[in-house]
Amino acid sequence: MSRRRNDREVGVALLVTTLQKRGIQLVAVDFDQTLITFHSGGVWKDSVDKLVSKVRPCIRDLMQTCLDRHLNVCIVTYFMQPWVIKELLQKLFRRSDADRILVQANTASFREKHNHEFLGKEAHIAAILTELYNKCHLKIRPDEIILFDDDRDNTDIAMKFGHKAFLVQEDVNERDFEEFAKDLDAAETRKSWIK
Ligand SMILES: [Mg+2]
Repeated sequence: MSRRRNDREVGVALLVTTLQKRGIQLVAVDFDQTLITFHSGGVWKDSVDKLVSKVRPCIRDLMQTCLDRHLNVCIVTYFMQPWVIKELLQKLFRRSDADRILVQANTASFREKHNHEFLGKEAHIAAILTELYNKCHLKIRPDEIILFDDDRDNTDIAMKFGHKAFLVQEDVNERDFEEFAKDLDAAETRKSWIK
């Protein structure tokens, strides 16, 4: 294995280990400019195969490692075609893993239900939590959720609602994951000093 590849894997593994230590149970990932590198405008009219090359490898790897460690993973997005995302996930992950990733997109009925008004990704996360509860009676607290999103408004709102949040920058890579993991650990240590 090349050193570079090894470094990348270490960054992802470190972050997921830290998330587990901090009690995270749900990893919510945005679609546009987070899992994929560009903003689709909410719809994709070309073939799903063409989306595969637009996926950010570090976000895919992060999702895979979370799935390997039995964390719940979901996509929360204003993108309007969940079937496109589900087909893409089948191409990126083993079938048994892809089937475990819940997707809450801005379908027509979801937009209507929420009167076309959304507070960050909170409605999406709430819908995922309901689905997880109905499927496996899982109860997940706000502080056991982390959102990965490229939109600062969404990550700010997520933190106001008690979640953890990672702001995805244009050039995001595994080093950023490592730094974020260190910051989370440091914040936890500070908290324990204050107690
Ligand atoms: Mg986005």
